[in-house]
Amino acid sequence: MDLLNVNGSPYFFFILLFIGVALIGCSTSPSLEPQSYDPPGATDTRDKEIAFQSRSVFAFQQEGVFFSNDFEGGRLLEVEKEANGIYSGQITPENHPINNSAWFAFNAWARQSMTIHITLRYSNGKHRYWPKTSTDRVYWIPLDSSQVIVAEDERSATFELNLGPDTLWIAGQELITNDVFDRWQQKLTKLPYIRHQVLGESRAGRPIHMLELTESEKPEAYLLVIGRQHPPEIAGSIGLTSFIETIAADSELANAFRKRFAVWAIPVVNPDGVAEGHWRHNTGGIDLNRDWHAFNQPETRLVRDHFLQLKQNNQSVIAAIDFHATRYDIMYTLDRNLLPGDDFTDTWLDAIRTQIPTYNLIDEPGGLGSPISKNWFYETFNAPAFTYEVGDETDRDLIEEVAVTAANAMMELALDTTR
Ligand SMILES: [Zn+2]
Repeated sequence: MDLLNVNGSPYFFFILLFIGVALIGCSTSPSLEPQSYDPPGATDTRDKEIAFQSRSVFAFQQEGVFFSNDFEGGRLLEVEKEANGIYSGQITPENHPINNSAWFAFNAWARQSMTIHITLRYSNGKHRYWPKTSTDRVYWIPLDSSQVIVAEDERSATFELNLGPDTLWIAGQELITNDVFDRWQQKLTKLPYIRHQVLGESRAGRPIHMLELTESEKPEAYLLVIGRQHPPEIAGSIGLTSFIETIAADSELANAFRKRFAVWAIPVVNPDGVAEGHWRHNTGGIDLNRDWHAFNQPETRLVRDHFLQLKQNNQSVIAAIDFHATRYDIMYTLDRNLLPGDDFTDTWLDAIRTQIPTYNLIDEPGGLGSPISKNWFYETFNAPAFTYEVGDETDRDLIEEVAVTAANAMMELALDTTR
C-alpha cells in the first residue's frame, strides 16, 4: 500500500529495477506513452479510430442536380435520389459514441432553376442545427420554417432548397473555417501591437495559431483565450472574435489595458476537426476538452506547453476563457469557494447583466471533477476560469454585443483590481 514501508524489504531491488526500466522507457519515447486517465472524472483520451469522409461531388446528371462536400468544413455522405426532386444524404459522425452535434455542410446547384427536397439522415445523433444558406459564404440566412421539417424522433430533417446554376451553400452554422480565421488574423496582425505565432502542428499537420495582444514589454498579467476545441461551435467563434477585436480596438480603455497587460489567444485549438467537418473530435477521434488531464493529444499538449511558459516565468493570469456553443447561453464558472475572497467572477458577470439586461446569461458554477480546460486553467494559474457556452441560435448581433461588453468589463476589472 504505502511505498515507504517496503524500503529494506526483499522487494526493494525489484522496485528499483522496475523504476529503472520505466525511466529508460520514458526517456526514449516520452510523447508516445499513453498517460494515466484514472483520476475521478477523467476520460480515456487515447486515440480512437475515425472514419475519414471522402470528398466528392454527388452528381445526378439526368436531373442536372449536384451536391458537394468538397470544401473545408463540409460534411455530407452517400447522397441518393429517392424520387424526382427528392434526395437523401447521410450525416455520420467521425466516430462514436459522440456528443450530439450533428454537423452538416454542403453545397448544391442545378442546371436549371428548380425546387428540390433533401432529407438528412443522422446516425449516432439527432438534428441539432437550424440550416442556414449562403450564396457567397459570407452572408448567411436561416432557412424559413416552412422549408424545414424535422422528424418527430429528430433522426432526420428535410430541407426545401431552391437551386439554380449558382452555388448554394447549406450548413448547420455559418462556415467559419480555418481559412476565415487566417484572413482574420492577417487583418489583425497589421496592427503594431498584435503578434502572430504558430505554436506547432495539429495531429494532421495543420498550424495552431496564437495571437498576442500587448503594448507592454513586461505585461503585469495575462488574459488567456481559447476556442473551437469543438468544430461546429461557430457561435462561440463569433463571440471570441468580437471579444478579441474589442481588446484590439483603438479605444481609450483598450489602449490603457494593452499598455499594462497582454492577451494570449488561440482561436482554433482543433483545426483538423474544423477542416474535416467533424461533429466534435480531433483526428485522433478524441474530444479535446476531455484531454486536459492526460494530455494524450498533440493539440492539447501544444496549448498546455505554451501557457506553461507563463507559470515557469512566474507570470500571473487575469482570467482564462474557453469559448464554446450549446443550445443555451451558459457561463460555466468555478465554485466560488475555489477562489476565496475573489469577486472577479461576480463583478464581471454583474457588469454584463447590468449593461445588457435583456441577455439571459445563466451562471453555472462547478467543481474540478472533469478534465476540461477551465479546470486546468484554475489549477495551473489559480485564476478565474470560464467555459463560455454561446447559444447555437442566439441572435448574432446579440452575441457580438455581449462579447464587446464582456471584453470591456473584463479590461476595466483588470485595470481596477491591480491598481
Ligand atoms: Zn464545446
